Amino acid sequence: KIGARFRDHSLDGTPKRIGVLTSGGDAPGMNPAVRAVVRYGISKGCEIFGIYEGYQGLVDGGKFIKKMDWKSVRGWLAVGGTSIGTARCMPFKTREGRLQAACNLVKNGIDSLIVCGGDGSLTGADVFRSEWSGLIEELFKTERITKDEATQYNHLTIVGLVGSIDNDMSSTDITIGAVTSLHRICESVDSIGTTASSHSRAFVVEVMGRHCGWLALMAGIATGADFVFIPERPPADDWETTICNVAHRHRELGKRKTVIIVAEGAIDSALNPIKVDQIKDILTERLGLDTRVTTLGHTQRGGSPAAFDRILATVQGVASVDAVLRSTPDMPSPMIGMSDNQVTCKPLMKAVELTHEVAQAIGEKNFARAMALRDPQFAEEYDIYNSSTILDDDSLELPEHLRLRIGIVHVGAPAGGMNAATRTAARYAVNRGHTPIAIFNGFDGLIKGTLQDLTWSDVDGWTSRGGSELGTNRHVPGEQLDMGMVAYQMQEFNLQGLLIIGGFEAYACLMHLEKARDKYPSLCIPMCVIPATVSNNVPGTDYSLGTDTALNAIVNSCDAIIQSARSSRRRVFVVEVQGGRSGYLAVEAGLASGANTIYIPEEGLNLTRLQSDVHHLMALYMDDDPDKSEGRIVLRNETVSKTYTTDVISSIFKEEGHALFDSRTAVLGHIQQGNTPSPMDRIRATRLGMHSIQFMEQQTQEILTSHKNKTTPVELCKTVGSAVVVGLNNRKPKDAWWYERRPLVDLLAGRGLFSAGA
Ligand code: ATP
Repeated sequence: KIGARFRDHSLDGTPKRIGVLTSGGDAPGMNPAVRAVVRYGISKGCEIFGIYEGYQGLVDGGKFIKKMDWKSVRGWLAVGGTSIGTARCMPFKTREGRLQAACNLVKNGIDSLIVCGGDGSLTGADVFRSEWSGLIEELFKTERITKDEATQYNHLTIVGLVGSIDNDMSSTDITIGAVTSLHRICESVDSIGTTASSHSRAFVVEVMGRHCGWLALMAGIATGADFVFIPERPPADDWETTICNVAHRHRELGKRKTVIIVAEGAIDSALNPIKVDQIKDILTERLGLDTRVTTLGHTQRGGSPAAFDRILATVQGVASVDAVLRSTPDMPSPMIGMSDNQVTCKPLMKAVELTHEVAQAIGEKNFARAMALRDPQFAEEYDIYNSSTILDDDSLELPEHLRLRIGIVHVGAPAGGMNAATRTAARYAVNRGHTPIAIFNGFDGLIKGTLQDLTWSDVDGWTSRGGSELGTNRHVPGEQLDMGMVAYQMQEFNLQGLLIIGGFEAYACLMHLEKARDKYPSLCIPMCVIPATVSNNVPGTDYSLGTDTALNAIVNSCDAIIQSARSSRRRVFVVEVQGGRSGYLAVEAGLASGANTIYIPEEGLNLTRLQSDVHHLMALYMDDDPDKSEGRIVLRNETVSKTYTTDVISSIFKEEGHALFDSRTAVLGHIQQGNTPSPMDRIRATRLGMHSIQFMEQQTQEILTSHKNKTTPVELCKTVGSAVVVGLNNRKPKDAWWYERRPLVDLLAGRGLFSAGA
């Protein structure tokens, strides 16, 4: 009864019978992926079968292949690991095992397979498909299947989803589970940092990654570790002396802790393994540091998925079903990936080949090739890490006449990552010979002249600090008669570049400053904005800093609220989230928490909509098992309607839900600004921090080139291009890229599937 009315005839007609399995090491996000496959598949009129225990279930068949229904994946968004189980299966590596697996698929009428796993699992999937016609022929010849079955199942559709905490697959920027794993690592390293500082100790932390240094490098960036070891880029010879020099120099500057992160596959340039105990001995013996080793082990498998992984797995799960429906026998099996924030569908085998090439390149000591085979940002992140962490890299220093005095100011509400961006900008600036200058308390502070030069050690530890260390407020210069004072102080402090970190107000500041350039020459300097706001509404970037932290704060709160609602039975919470006039947080948090629906300014809200939502909720509760009734949430953006406030909506639900369900409210408020910034915000902040300084350098150099007789870096800089937003991706400058995900929230909550009359 379910599904037929959803059938999308734009996708190649025939609904499929799709098997979904998870294989290899478990990864947080596998459950949201399976949930999305099941629910979206059903909505497309397909039948979905869960294949339990990975390929082992496929080989064993019987009770391991179960038809999934809408409710069988309820609550899976928040559950780590994989609820359909995973295994390493030796029999599937043999033809005999795969023959049995093929037989089980045919006997269950399954014509398509979605496999979520690492490169091994996806290799297995591709081998299976390439052999399929031979397997079918043999099954028919040995009379294990009928002629009709052999004809009907002459082709197997395979689609790969990459579930791996290592982020070690080529052809995709990110794999399902890696970000959650990074969350766990950062939590651990942050905790280690406090004890390390207290005792003035050194810690050597081993993280996962046999052939891939993504986790180690990103953890190094996100926690401000002193050194990282990764397999793709072994350290230069005599690295033992290098790490001692780095640790010693950092201690001289006042650091009380030393943290070194080591990927489990770390090697030196002669391919000898570099092990944590070896590093410990070096630090102890040569520097006399009290050094401890921590191997994080299976905690890195993650637990409940982070918001990022829930969303990634959901949109990729949906894309995998679409790929099944689009697939034709002559198309190579696709792998669903992610590139520049867009879901991609690339040939699976090519991706697997490239992945294997990384290990091969490392084995051949072709480290440049190994780095190049990773996603495009990897090498860049490595450079950013080094140039913002290790002091005294003389190769970075610019000649005297190109050095700038750069003001850094925070504007608007605090957002996770503001401090991390300031830290990287300041450190990179110091390493280049510039003078970074903190402007305290926004433009108010600039007018009052509360400025101070920043040193390398002033910003130590800022990557993991939430809020704004500089102080922030909503003062936008030019909205009152204050531009003259701003220009005066900029001249007084001889600012030659200005970095503004903040939300829409920061953007407004930049526009006002740019407009006032005709009047005030001191404003004719390179200026840029790093977008930082939970609302994600700054033009010119896909993501603002703070959005990922906010999403995680919302999703964690929603998990707790859903648990409370479920325990109280039959309760609907109306949860109010921030976002100003942007529905971004509500859409993404709606997807990540499994909200029943969302109310966003882009759509508005009226009585008809509320009535329809009440009917939908009634239908869901009528369909529930009365003894196991579910808690549900609806997310409301804070500005969606002046009339239909959070309280009013809840009262309407309560009144109209009659005996079927009750309602309560939860206004999340400022907790959405989060406490410590999420790893993604820290990493994005680091990239943007460095790019902002590079932008100012490039502008300065262009001016010097075009005015050959000038020798100082401060010159009239009036071009539109000298005042910019330093952003991430920015596919469509004017459209909200995330809006295309909006329909999935309702679809995956069963909208249209359950109606009060059904
Ligand atoms: P992880 O990234 O966690 O290691 P993975 O998918 O790479 O995940 P593997 O242990 O390599 O993990 O593979 C998982 C399963 O996939 C194997 O146990 C096996 O059943 C199947 N598999 C792997 N390689 C092949 C292959 N070449 N042919 C057939 N099946 C394979």
